Amino acid sequence: MARVHNFNAGPAGLPLAALERAPRDLLDIEGTGMSIMEHSHRGKTYEAVHNEAIALLRELLGVPSDYDILFLQGGATQQFALVPMNLRKEGRSADYVITGAWSKKALKEAEVTGKARVAVTTEVEGKFLRIPKATELDLDDSAAYVHITSNNTIAGTQFSEFPETKAPLVADMSSDILSRPIDVSRFGLIYAGAQKNLGPSGLTVVIVRKDLVESGNQNIPTIFQYREHAATNSLLNTPPTFAIYILRNVLDWVKSEGGLAAIAKRNDEKAAILYDVIDERSDFYSSPVEKDSRSKMNVVFNLPTPELEAACIAEAQKRGMVGLKGHRSVGGMRASIYNACSVESVNALATFLRSFKK
Ligand code: PMP
Repeated sequence: MARVHNFNAGPAGLPLAALERAPRDLLDIEGTGMSIMEHSHRGKTYEAVHNEAIALLRELLGVPSDYDILFLQGGATQQFALVPMNLRKEGRSADYVITGAWSKKALKEAEVTGKARVAVTTEVEGKFLRIPKATELDLDDSAAYVHITSNNTIAGTQFSEFPETKAPLVADMSSDILSRPIDVSRFGLIYAGAQKNLGPSGLTVVIVRKDLVESGNQNIPTIFQYREHAATNSLLNTPPTFAIYILRNVLDWVKSEGGLAAIAKRNDEKAAILYDVIDERSDFYSSPVEKDSRSKMNVVFNLPTPELEAACIAEAQKRGMVGLKGHRSVGGMRASIYNACSVESVNALATFLRSFKK
């Protein structure tokens, strides 16, 4: 078996240790004669996996007891709609910090069901090259919440510090959840599609303060209410059991690696290896984003011409390095180096990029 060096943006590479546990449990988990996928979601075997995943997330992220952890479906995109539907009371507005294509989509979806305003945008001529300074935010203190995208998967920028807000802070952490320790108590709600740092697609994690759950709107369909999912431990209807099983395995791996402090240290090291190549004296590789806004998850860079970029991507592919094409909306190259991407893979890419330049 030859595993590639996987730089996909999402679905992305998963930790080998998390995948290696799966084949056995796919046929017969714990001697029950059934696959984890064939168990009832209300049976003991599945329930243990479900609750272990929640407990591990709580432990690893330090989620306080006054927060619920929900397992939902519909991707982060569904949360673009559910956050305002649940948290924004009739007549109230919500503030959006626009730092990329995903925040724009979140805002657009919020506008479908009510009022939303832009607290700041860093878009210049269709490009997002930086994270705003705290002083640039024009916040409405009576807003239902302030929405940010903690890591901009396409633009390659990331918040290194989170803004202070009077209204509850809501963060789309799809592409950097679990990549570093965070203070969950700074947030009213955090959501993330699983397919980058958590597990397979089809699962969305929502971490939400209980008072926001309890005061959430009730004039929306039951299936869309955080309250209903919280009250049923995310077993309101059939959850994506296999995706949650893999999440459990991934979380176990994160714990065995030393938790988020150790993971963050390795992520810092990986990002530094690639940005060092990009910053080396020469104008061959360049980073379009401002230095202090650079993402440690999605390293976006350019070569002198689109033709050289295409050649570089093709040569890398021949050497078993996949997923290096930039998002179709911005072009260029992008190396997504989520938790499961090893230092070894990043070193292999750095070595290749240096030789390609020569
Ligand atoms: N937000 C961010 C930051 C993302 O990177 C993505 C997907 N790449 C999404 C939202 C959309 O996620 P989903 O496909 O799970 O709806």
